[in-house]
Amino acid sequence: MAKICVIGSSSMDLVVTSSRRPGAGETVLGDSFKTVPGGKGANQAVAAARLGAEVAMIGRVGDDAFGKDIVENFRANAVNTQNVKPVTHLESGTAHIILAEGDNSIVVVEAANREVTPAYVDEAAEVIRDADIVLIQQEIPEETVVHVSALCAEFGTPLLLNPAPARTLPQEVIDNAAYITPNEHEAEILFQGMSPAQALRQYPNKLFITEGSKGVRYFDGTDEILVPTYKVEAVDTTGAGDTFNAAFAVALAEGKALQESIRFANRAASLSVTKFGAQGGMPTRDEVEESL
Ligand code: ATP
Repeated sequence: MAKICVIGSSSMDLVVTSSRRPGAGETVLGDSFKTVPGGKGANQAVAAARLGAEVAMIGRVGDDAFGKDIVENFRANAVNTQNVKPVTHLESGTAHIILAEGDNSIVVVEAANREVTPAYVDEAAEVIRDADIVLIQQEIPEETVVHVSALCAEFGTPLLLNPAPARTLPQEVIDNAAYITPNEHEAEILFQGMSPAQALRQYPNKLFITEGSKGVRYFDGTDEILVPTYKVEAVDTTGAGDTFNAAFAVALAEGKALQESIRFANRAASLSVTKFGAQGGMPTRDEVEESL
């Protein structure tokens, strides 16, 4: 079983649907409300566990009802929560989403996710040392991403960096990461001043740019390669990137070759867009293998 450590955010998404978006100072009546567990870290941990990996999450929640639900959701998906500890002075992370007029407006409150600090990660250093691969994103403090990249380099644990949401990063993180998986927009921000082709050539077999329904592009040292994804009837692409990253990590941790790992991840991510919700659409191992 592949051992994966995910370091990142967890949150509760509070989703309201309404026929109209309220203007400043206005109140409107909504149509429906639901709560759904989310956060890129949590999504990737759940996706990797569904794909059959042994997953340990390093994250934080508030000492509140959402925190309990977030932890319960991890457990229901067989994610190890030993290092998802509550903080008492901040609430659980939340995303406040209004779906109205065919578009969404989102306010994210990071709250407890800000406490995924370098010192907190150090308490779980053994998990990082023991993992076959560490998966990290950017919804936690940048200093933690820098610190984890140095720890992985020290321990010799491969680091898969999903640089989302988009921001710039110190060069040492890019150097320490074994795999980097931005979408096209994130790649533009991360490698400012370089075209995608230039960035790919600078980081052969390390930089993998995801291009939605087209697939994934990388440079193998000789050629630029596009690994096409699978054609599907897409109903909701939320969480496609999270499923891709989790599946890529699982395949690499199992020792699959690079192109085979990308195909596996494309298959998993393409299945995820055929169902609603980020975690709702994440496929099981059997579902991916049956359709490969
Ligand atoms: P999101 O933010 O929506 O989770 P993203 O912007 O991080 O996604 P994308 O490049 O859009 O990442 O998608 C990641 C991967 O998901 C793609 O490389 C592909 O494998 C798969 N994917 C996304 N959209 C589709 C689609 N419409 N059809 C098939 N596969 C898709």
